[in-house]
Amino acid sequence: MDFTLNETQRLIQQTARHYAERVIAPQAAAIDEEERFPADILKGLADMGLMAVNVPESLGGSQAGAVAYVLAMIEVARACASTAVTMAVTNMVGEVIARFGTPEQRERCCPRLASGEWLAGAFALSEPEAGSDPGALRTTARRDGDAWVLDGSKQWITSGAYAGVLVVWARTGDQAAYPGTRGISCFLVEQATPGLRIGRAEDKMGIRGSNTVGLHFEECRVPETALLGELHGGFKIAMMALDGGRIGISAQALGIARAALEESVRYAKDRKQFGRPIGDNQAIQWKLAEMQTSIDAAYLLALRAAWMKDHAVPFSREAAMAKMFSTEAAVQICNHAVQIHGGYGYIRDFPAERHLRDVRVSMIYEGTSEIQRVVIARSMLS
Ligand SMILES: Cc1cc2nc3c(=O)[nH]c(=O)nc-3n(C[C@H](O)[C@H](O)[C@H](O)COP(=O)(O)OP(=O)(O)OC[C@H]3O[C@@H](n4cnc5c(N)ncnc54)[C@H](O)[C@@H]3O)c2cc1C
Repeated sequence: MDFTLNETQRLIQQTARHYAERVIAPQAAAIDEEERFPADILKGLADMGLMAVNVPESLGGSQAGAVAYVLAMIEVARACASTAVTMAVTNMVGEVIARFGTPEQRERCCPRLASGEWLAGAFALSEPEAGSDPGALRTTARRDGDAWVLDGSKQWITSGAYAGVLVVWARTGDQAAYPGTRGISCFLVEQATPGLRIGRAEDKMGIRGSNTVGLHFEECRVPETALLGELHGGFKIAMMALDGGRIGISAQALGIARAALEESVRYAKDRKQFGRPIGDNQAIQWKLAEMQTSIDAAYLLALRAAWMKDHAVPFSREAAMAKMFSTEAAVQICNHAVQIHGGYGYIRDFPAERHLRDVRVSMIYEGTSEIQRVVIARSMLS
């Protein structure tokens, strides 16, 4: 077994780390405090090829693979979780268009996402009544001449107000003829399309610099060429995209946890009580040892899933395992980090409280922890 990174992976990791430490990390607290969408940072990431890491070079991407993407995501999330989730969704959107788009769709969207001309992409699957069960979505797309007309609402859409292109899932077949997930199709809707209304930004616990909005489609007309993939074949596209997306969220959680651990180690050495560093106490040492071990285990799960993706080996179960384990471990690690910081962990002067707020959502989006368990168990029992 070879754990060595190749030249491209090392370069991407170093590039991301350098930019994250130098440019992103110093702004992370302000991004959170001011709920500031990190537009300049995203442009910088695009300039370095990090907004389309796994998109072919011919479409403007870096074509560096899923492992490289994990490495970059960890570095960015270690600095700023809000930036990381925006990067994650944009990468996912670029990949899905590169994979399922027509040549015209690919050439229109991928280079714009990769270059930062479009600062973000959005993935609009969830609805007010369809979260864990996206097959229950109610947004419709009906054919009218040479157009599709979308009606309905989406909920929780990351970067919805800033995305140049939104990948939107809608029901194209009636429930009787196409029950369950069979009558769902996927559309590319560009920002400012008439009939698309952006809702108010959600007031979130964490990742407050990321943009999360509802979307409302009211007689929203898109050309027939907006259909992505096959008619009625959209659900499969969503599930495949989420498999890859879950590796990204696993890496995002890992990056946040790494930051929390590094700050905890520093604090355990500096902070003195009873005349000695708190790190001299076994109670603190055991926490640190467990935090480091969980991070390494999560890292290996994420890399395994990414490696499988890079080698075209089915990786759905492994991605779910990586996401479930990494996000739950990261929440625990960030909680330990607050505890190690004592009262200082509970105030905004130290980043520990931000990490805990930021990391919590990783157990919820792109499929909750419970849904990851469903995916894993189903694959074992089928
Ligand atoms: C900040 C943020 C950003 C997001 N970004 C996006 C985005 O960009 N695009 C997008 O499409 N969506 C996005 N989402 C939506 C996210 O994917 C959903 O919130 C998530 O899938 C859960 O859906 P729900 O909130 O409706 O919860 P529900 O599905 O109502 O679940 C509630 C609880 O019930 C549990 N549950 C449900 N079904 C089962 C079951 N069968 N077995 C066991 N437990 C179950 C869940 O695990 C959860 O604990 C985002 C959400 C948040 C909070």
